[in-house]
Amino acid sequence: MGYDGPNRFIVTGSKIMVKFCLQCKNAFWGGQFCPICKGEEELLDAALPENQKYLVELNIDVRPKYFARSSMLLTCFGFIMALPLGMFIFIRGVGETGNVALWAGIGIVTVVVISWGSWVLSAKMFNKQMKAVEDIKDPQLD
Ligand SMILES: [Zn+2]
Repeated sequence: MGYDGPNRFIVTGSKIMVKFCLQCKNAFWGGQFCPICKGEEELLDAALPENQKYLVELNIDVRPKYFARSSMLLTCFGFIMALPLGMFIFIRGVGETGNVALWAGIGIVTVVVISWGSWVLSAKMFNKQMKAVEDIKDPQLD
């Protein structure tokens, strides 16, 4: 048992997906054929329902790949939401009181707190999801 294949990133175009090989039981980021097996061993898409029955047979657990992706997205979402909100607070506050330094400070604090909050939340979410992953399999975190 164990994952001894090389960690590889296979990116097809701009679309990245988790694929796996039934022959060597390794998972990859996209690609059409297995880079480890000789010949043209076709990779299966892990996201397709008809292929998910094979996931339990794999050497590695592909779930951390999805968890890492979703927690990354949440962090990005937090940053994207925090910036306009901070700007809004700043513009509104300055418009009402004219105190630029005060409202700039409050705006920046808002951005930092929300960004930090979404980062902490996504890290917590990731850890919680990771606990559900059986530890008999090597988690693949690339
Ligand atoms: Zn293979």
